[in-house]
Amino acid sequence: MTASAHQRLSLPTPMEIYLDANATTPVLPQAKAAAIQAMVEDYGNPSSVHSTGLKAKALIDGVRARAQRLLDTGPDASLLFTSGATEGIQTAVLSALNALRGNLQAELLLYGATEHKAVPEALKHWNDVLGLHMQIMAIPVDGQGRHDLSFLRQHAPRAGLVCTMAANNETGIISDLDGIEAALAGSPALWLVDGVQALGKLPLRLRSRRIDYAPFSGHKLYAPKGIGLLYVRAGAPFTPLMAGGGQEGSLRSGTENMSGIAALGAVLSALDDGETLRDAATLEGFRARLAAALAEAFPGLVFNAPLDLSLPTTLNFAVPGLSSRLLQDLFDAADVRVSGGSACSAAKAAPSFVLQAMGLPDWQAAGAVRMSIGPAVDEAFIDEACARILACGESLRRHCLSPANNFPTLGDGITRFMQDGACCYLLADAISQRCVLIDPRPEQVCRLAQALTCQGYPLLAVLSTTAEAAHSEARELLAEALTDLMPTGTCDALGWPVQAQHLAMGKQQLGRLLQPQGQVLLLGEAGSAVPAIAFIGLSPAADLQPHVGLSTLLAAARDEAQQVALSLASLEQAAEELAVQQVQGAQLKAFITYHPDAVLVDVREPYEQFLSQTPDLVGAQMEAMPLSRLLNAIQPWLCEQPQRPLLFFCRTGNRSRQAALALTRLGHGQAWTLAGGLALLPTAARLKHQPDPALYV
Ligand code: PLP
Repeated sequence: MTASAHQRLSLPTPMEIYLDANATTPVLPQAKAAAIQAMVEDYGNPSSVHSTGLKAKALIDGVRARAQRLLDTGPDASLLFTSGATEGIQTAVLSALNALRGNLQAELLLYGATEHKAVPEALKHWNDVLGLHMQIMAIPVDGQGRHDLSFLRQHAPRAGLVCTMAANNETGIISDLDGIEAALAGSPALWLVDGVQALGKLPLRLRSRRIDYAPFSGHKLYAPKGIGLLYVRAGAPFTPLMAGGGQEGSLRSGTENMSGIAALGAVLSALDDGETLRDAATLEGFRARLAAALAEAFPGLVFNAPLDLSLPTTLNFAVPGLSSRLLQDLFDAADVRVSGGSACSAAKAAPSFVLQAMGLPDWQAAGAVRMSIGPAVDEAFIDEACARILACGESLRRHCLSPANNFPTLGDGITRFMQDGACCYLLADAISQRCVLIDPRPEQVCRLAQALTCQGYPLLAVLSTTAEAAHSEARELLAEALTDLMPTGTCDALGWPVQAQHLAMGKQQLGRLLQPQGQVLLLGEAGSAVPAIAFIGLSPAADLQPHVGLSTLLAAARDEAQQVALSLASLEQAAEELAVQQVQGAQLKAFITYHPDAVLVDVREPYEQFLSQTPDLVGAQMEAMPLSRLLNAIQPWLCEQPQRPLLFFCRTGNRSRQAALALTRLGHGQAWTLAGGLALLPTAARLKHQPDPALYV
């Protein structure tokens, strides 16, 4: 990879910085050791009466006693081992609702509007299954994410069950449990408090509060997945979710998850030892450093929840003009793991319902990023996290994506900007310093104005291929944002300068073909009979036949199918589904050995490439060609004689798949994708050094 084409930032320590502890945590070394001991040596069934079984029983009793003390449950309450908080929530909801059968006073089931989905879904499920038909209502929250206590006071007398989390998983907002308890005074309602995010971070004072049920989850605090706890107040109604062998005093049957219990026990000991886990004041100091680094790296950043009301381990923010997805890709490239909203909803691009419930503006709810640390992090980890955050800000400034202080850039060639399937193209020529914009949309104006300002070339035209109102609206908005760079002369309704035959862009020129529904724009070398690229809008390919060559790239105004470009030749091929050629991470070395002339093409965006550790892809030839710039490279690759094998890679395998399919469709016989992307490569192939495991905890 040439240094100029693919400039990278050299980060000090190539290791993962895991800032997603509210989703899950790694397992503490001592918890791992305890789990292994329970699996390999002390593997008894605690129900067995022989010595091996008695040893296991003693282990369970010891862990439970420690948990009772740490959670301050008092001696009479039950504390059950479960598979996690979702099971704890089901058990609590089933128990409460079963007890409410035939209770005519209880009409409502109330839950906080920002609860984890497990709570409202469990309420709906068990309300249906038990045929109770009670009304389920969300308790609204205010702009700071705290429950509306007057709403609660008003409805509590008719409520049968009230569910309020102790701290929110997305924002870290700590609920006012004393205020809630006061609002429940005189109400017969049972009270469930989801304690998942509070474990090890907030004292819940279970013994002294009227909380009936409190579920906890081990994997949010350095124990493995699949182990949790459920607190049940003495005297609270209880119905077992699972009946069977009578384990856990018949409250939760099923042979106990001994390795999980042993690991949880080791975590609880760590909470007790005062050394392994940091106290609240230290964590607050760490979070303040992360917040300061974020504010410096991303000018204009806003925090979505007040820091003084949230757990010292959680930050939730948004940056004007930058989507949550872009920020997540940026951090991931720097090997910083964060999430957008909650992990469960991260796969969908929906705005955070938690932030919506708080009444935050749409851009904040849709652009939210959550950073969360676990209490075992240390100073060195925070130093490294802050350095990476600053590097992310630097990458945005260098690639003209920062809200402020961007570097000038030397634009050249075609860049594609996508917006919900619609394609906008920026054509720039570095030698003549001119550019043309095709099919911009109003939602893209800020981003485009930023890119055009960094580049500083005057626009020859802002064109529409489809005569859509959105394009002329964007043209007007751009004129407000960019007075100096806008075209000066008169233009027609499609943005074409009147009287111009061609628009000259260095060695290339742009011509046009008027169509009934807009115009087709033809880009090619001056004097060449066949255009290299046609921006076809929504024109059917058949209409283009006399004006373009068989191999002219056809770039459309919409690309929902993620085809990047077609050609008449590709359209003539049989319409059967194309199969992409895949290389699995484990086969990479063999692939390079078999294809020593292969080029590994990084199709991630430049702001990701800049941050990334050079992937040590077994010494192969590398090239950087972001997917947004792929149109520039397709023809040179297709025309190479002989064609070199191209192995596209990106972070997850999605973008590289698109690139490999596009090349294959256009007639390249040797295009592959790295399946699963860099994310699935064995760590040793991706990182120059092994990460220091101590920094994970
Ligand atoms: N409640 C909250 C607040 C959570 O954050 C989670 C986990 O995402 C859960 C419940 C569900 O926990 P588990 O994964 O143990 O089922």
